Amino acid sequence: MVVGGSLSGLCAGLALARAGWAVTIVERAAGEPPGGAGLGLDRRLLGRVTGVDAARIPVVSGNRDSAAWGLVRQFLLEAALRTPGIEFIESTTVTGVREPGEAGRVSADSTGGVFTADVAVGADGVYSVMRRFVAPDHPAADYAGYMLWRGLVPEAEVPGGLDGRGRNLEVHGARGAQLVVYGVPGADGRADPGHRRVSFAWYDTSRTELLRQTGCLEGDAVVATLANDQLPAELIGELGRLARRYWPSPWDRCIGWAVTHGEVFGTPVAEYLPSRLVRDRVVLVGDAAHVASPMTGAGFQNALLDVAALADGLRGASGTDVPAALGRYEQERLPPVRELVSSGMAWGRSYLATA
Ligand SMILES: Cc1cc2nc3c(=O)[nH]c(=O)nc-3n(C[C@H](O)[C@H](O)[C@H](O)COP(=O)(O)OP(=O)(O)OC[C@H]3O[C@@H](n4cnc5c(N)ncnc54)[C@H](O)[C@@H]3O)c2cc1C
Repeated sequence: MVVGGSLSGLCAGLALARAGWAVTIVERAAGEPPGGAGLGLDRRLLGRVTGVDAARIPVVSGNRDSAAWGLVRQFLLEAALRTPGIEFIESTTVTGVREPGEAGRVSADSTGGVFTADVAVGADGVYSVMRRFVAPDHPAADYAGYMLWRGLVPEAEVPGGLDGRGRNLEVHGARGAQLVVYGVPGADGRADPGHRRVSFAWYDTSRTELLRQTGCLEGDAVVATLANDQLPAELIGELGRLARRYWPSPWDRCIGWAVTHGEVFGTPVAEYLPSRLVRDRVVLVGDAAHVASPMTGAGFQNALLDVAALADGLRGASGTDVPAALGRYEQERLPPVRELVSSGMAWGRSYLATA
């Protein structure tokens, strides 16, 4: 059983099916889950881990390969749906793992009934339910002290165009703010100039109170993102003014367009430094397992490395081999993912100190 059918869960399903397992992926959302703008993508690694022909996923190639989250997710979903041995169940929320009962099996409750399996993979993201079972003493990701304004802007909509930019990832700094911006393919997959979209992440240290008022934070825990329709009108006006003041051309116009066209949403940055990845027959991968600042640009890359290690360990294994295989997985993956999250935390501390 794999809980969560986003990037990590679909990759886990594909890799485990290749390793000889019958897999059921349980996803809460119906259709495409919300969220997702752009991300760096190592197509070779993705292909090697999952067996998909990842070269067919469109990217904008510059100083790195940048992909559109929605196109990657759609590609992986289609691959999973045509793979024998994978069952994909959507509109079903897993509510919790049962304390170990029947020997050699794990059971989880959901809105669609009880699922029982040899092994349960938690790929349910930052707000993971599966993590509550694995790490009951530290179940939630903590607020890092800053947030992102994010969005995707069709290149053709940017007033005055991109002045030949958009191929490379760029980082810009302003007082208390940072901007990471790069081109990704258009919704139709076209990656040529004029048809791309701009993915931006504007780091902002000054909105903690707003995040509390809008229910995105509960104590130190991040519990939700901030949808565009939750943004007060004065704030939209302020973001437009700040975009003009902070960001160089063409990004000032690009973000200004996003702000005035309802294409900006807020993401409180969460961090989760794990001390374990496995309990009994439950194993965590991706953002359920570790949440690093997006500034590391390596969350999904590490999800793929998680999945590769897990599938290698479970290849050819029987139900009785699962606990030993999961133990080896934890030994292999815990040190590097702790290092990744710690490096993002160190960046965040120095960013907050200079803001
Ligand atoms: C701005 C930004 C930029 C980034 N850039 C990069 C980058 O350049 N390179 C990189 O490698 N990484 C990047 N990352 C990180 C990367 O996006 C994430 O690590 C990756 O997408 C995590 O995927 P996931 O499948 O683990 O989690 P999620 O995408 O959160 O998916 C979890 C899934 O589980 C489902 N779910 C949740 N709860 C339940 C439940 N109880 N029952 C059933 N289903 C459930 C959800 O609906 C969802 O579909 C970036 C992140 C951000 C925020």
